[in-house]
Amino acid sequence: MKANEILLPKKKHIALVAHDNKKKDLLEWSHFNRSTLARHHLYATGTTGSLLEEKLDLPITKLKSGPLGGDQQIGAKIAEGEIEMLIFFWDPLEPQPHDPDVKALLRIAQVWNIPIANNRSSADFMISSPLIQEVYARKISVYERELGDLEMEED
Ligand code: PGA
Repeated sequence: MKANEILLPKKKHIALVAHDNKKKDLLEWSHFNRSTLARHHLYATGTTGSLLEEKLDLPITKLKSGPLGGDQQIGAKIAEGEIEMLIFFWDPLEPQPHDPDVKALLRIAQVWNIPIANNRSSADFMISSPLIQEVYARKISVYERELGDLEMEED
């Protein structure tokens, strides 16, 4: 593995989040893909997690509800390397009280180059990729920047 890479394991840590108007969509999608999801570690924000647990009958690490800090908890776990995939059905038509948290979560997922699906068709493509069950080397440009800084310091 190179210094600017992090390996995604075969059994991935996947976070599932849906805004209220998108929960039905995520429940249907998750139910359809239950057998694939069952091979991974699942995390979710509070309300999404309770609904998924009931629908899928699978263990889910439930965090706080999104507006109460759940999105930030997922973001922190991405930064710490605990969560490495995000399925986030956010609502483009409804203002959210925790909009800054939503933006922060999308930003940190981008920083750490984790696979993100923000709608159902992207989620379909992501879950049907052969990479879902493979080890995958995720390139982290933040590290490149840090390595660049180090090289400059050495000069
Ligand atoms: P919820 O949070 O699963 O607790 O509804 C989702 C969100 O709004 O981020």
